[in-house]
Amino acid sequence: METTYEDVWKNCLKIIRDNVSLQSFKTWFEPIKPVRLENSVLTIQVPSQFFYEWLEEHYVGLLRKTIKRELGIDARLEYRIVVDNSAGNAKPFTVNYPNYNTGNNKNPEVAAPLVMGNSIKNPFIIPGLKKVNIESQLSPAYNFDNFVEGDCNRLARSAGFAVATKPPGTTAFNPLVVYGGVGLGKTHLVQAIGNQFKQHFPNKTVLYVSSEKFTNQFIEALKNNAVNDFIHFYHLIDVLIVDDIQFFANKDKTQDIFFHIFNHLHQGGKQLILTSDRSPRDLEGMEERLLSRFKWGLSADLQVPDFETRIAILEKKMYADGIELPREVVEFVAYNINTNIRELEGALISLLAQASLNKKEIDIELAKKIIKNFVKSISREVSIEYIQKTVCEHFEIPMDKLKEKTRKRAIVQARQLSMFLAKNFTKNSLKVIGKHFGGRDHSTVIHSCQAVQNLIDTDGEFRDSVKEIQKKIQLSIT
Ligand code: ADP
Ligand code: MG
Repeated sequence: METTYEDVWKNCLKIIRDNVSLQSFKTWFEPIKPVRLENSVLTIQVPSQFFYEWLEEHYVGLLRKTIKRELGIDARLEYRIVVDNSAGNAKPFTVNYPNYNTGNNKNPEVAAPLVMGNSIKNPFIIPGLKKVNIESQLSPAYNFDNFVEGDCNRLARSAGFAVATKPPGTTAFNPLVVYGGVGLGKTHLVQAIGNQFKQHFPNKTVLYVSSEKFTNQFIEALKNNAVNDFIHFYHLIDVLIVDDIQFFANKDKTQDIFFHIFNHLHQGGKQLILTSDRSPRDLEGMEERLLSRFKWGLSADLQVPDFETRIAILEKKMYADGIELPREVVEFVAYNINTNIRELEGALISLLAQASLNKKEIDIELAKKIIKNFVKSISREVSIEYIQKTVCEHFEIPMDKLKEKTRKRAIVQARQLSMFLAKNFTKNSLKVIGKHFGGRDHSTVIHSCQAVQNLIDTDGEFRDSVKEIQKKIQLSIT
């Protein structure tokens, strides 16, 4: 029986799946389509040039080994790149997400039917009302389904999920402190925990409050002589979520009252969830006794998502909004916007806005134009020429030598180092970098980068040269 390319590729995928992370597998291997098998040459179709280069750079070893295992020692791999996205003849890239919950009316807000006595006022409610429910103040748009998991958030997410699905106070994560820089998903995650918890325990009371709001309510209570009401109100909560506690810094009285509320809830087996823009260890202007409480439970950080996770986040967002974009546009955005998720979303929104304004399909050219305006750092990028010039000056060799075929050691090293720096300091593709060095191909660039890395690891003098050159380049950017 003849083996088909589909079978071969299926078997390869089985092996690959065991050797890469799930996110990488979804991002880089699921979109591949096998198209031909002839004389031990397997041809696979990939959605873009960049995609192909990424595979070659990161997975060439794995691919090679896998193919040889399936097809024997002579096996080779060939790529077919889907080139023309704008003409609409390339297959759009789509992903199916099961159970996607858009946060609509499937989960109506279930507020705990708490009847409050006259003496306790709910600071979230306009005064004068006697019978009130404690509304959670959560936005149903934030849930676990639309919170993409990645290495950057795995611990925080899984601890959060445990807190959300177990009875309050029964996990070791109390308080759960989620910390990380701006736009990395703290608010999203803690709100998702709150929403999930409400679904599981509709009779319990969840409350989300920002530390600023908490502070203002407290000041108001002080003014109105209603501090007891304020305290009593917060004592009624089963899961208290306080966002951005770094704003408690240097507010001694607020910290004091929060300390007492914290203790009361914690002792009563209630759950506390806090977020902060830095680790509790690094919070300044906080009372020591409060800080030590924060360390009782679990502190989990959110980090900048890696490239694969950024792609997954963009795709999820596109899917939710019913948008389709060419794969290479998604890659371009994910590659260039690497600071935080809010900016990633912002880039996507400005892309869509511009496209509808111009009544134009979003292709890679338009994306480049828009994203360039979006990220200042792109325009501040150094050029490959500048890198070449800096390297050549350092080693005192003429610049045009970099483009020649000469194999003189000093020149080869300068050429390889220039490629290495071009890769690290610019956003050019390997193909474009190769072109700047007398039309070398991308695999030469990959090889050069590896050679430089080896030298850096083994040769102290070379390492110092690299450092010095890097410093010069860095200075020219900032
Ligand atoms: P922070 O509170 O840390 O400043 P946010 O929670 O407001 O950040 O997140 C910023 C934006 O990024 C929000 O729109 C949020 O929905 C989105 N976001 C953050 N993390 C993720 C994720 N893991 N998956 C999907 N979207 C995310
Ligand atoms: Mg936030």
